[in-house]
Amino acid sequence: MPRILLVEDDPALLEMTWLSLVRRGHEVAAFDTGEAGLAALSRFRPDLVLLDVGLPGLDGIELCRRIRQRGPVPVIIVSGRGDETDVIGGLDTGADDYLVKPASADVVEARIRAVLRRAAHEAVAPHLETHGGLVIDRLGLIVRKAGRPLALTPSALRLLLHLTTSPGRVFSRPQLLDLVWDHDSVTDTRLVDACVRRLRHAVEDEAERPRYVQTVRGFGYRFGPL
Ligand code: CA
Repeated sequence: MPRILLVEDDPALLEMTWLSLVRRGHEVAAFDTGEAGLAALSRFRPDLVLLDVGLPGLDGIELCRRIRQRGPVPVIIVSGRGDETDVIGGLDTGADDYLVKPASADVVEARIRAVLRRAAHEAVAPHLETHGGLVIDRLGLIVRKAGRPLALTPSALRLLLHLTTSPGRVFSRPQLLDLVWDHDSVTDTRLVDACVRRLRHAVEDEAERPRYVQTVRGFGYRFGPL
């Protein structure tokens, strides 16, 4: 029975959504503030979080970001505002899907099932690795963030694949040059820096404040720690 953490500040909507989820066989913990939802996360251990964007205090976007920092639990955001920046902002923080209000109970249920299916597939497929919101498919050579494939150049992809073989390990520029380009004639380590910049633009929320690909001054680069 999927466990769903529901956060919604509109009391009528909270009750209606809670009721329709329970009727469909979900186990539901419902909260009307972001703070309460976040506090319940480790206690309730949900399979999925259904999150309103417009909340007093800690809003849905910030809550989504904090949930993402703690682990890979899927998040669907429900926005009262259908405007694109809202939706993109939600997806950029790592939400797996979004719905615009009013959403029918059947649509909510269908989206929940789709997101849970995808999460289950990612959990059992051994060639898929999850690194703090990035899903790396080493066989298909696809990197997804919030369910969407990232556009990476071949060298940026190879760089990411090498760095993530040992998260937290520092690789020197010459090492990376050797691993990623594998070519004796390539000796300019500035190539590595340029490639790191491209990679950050593709994978980071903010390329200037990287979370995934970190610089270790005087040594090189490492992935994480996340
Ligand atoms: Ca609201």
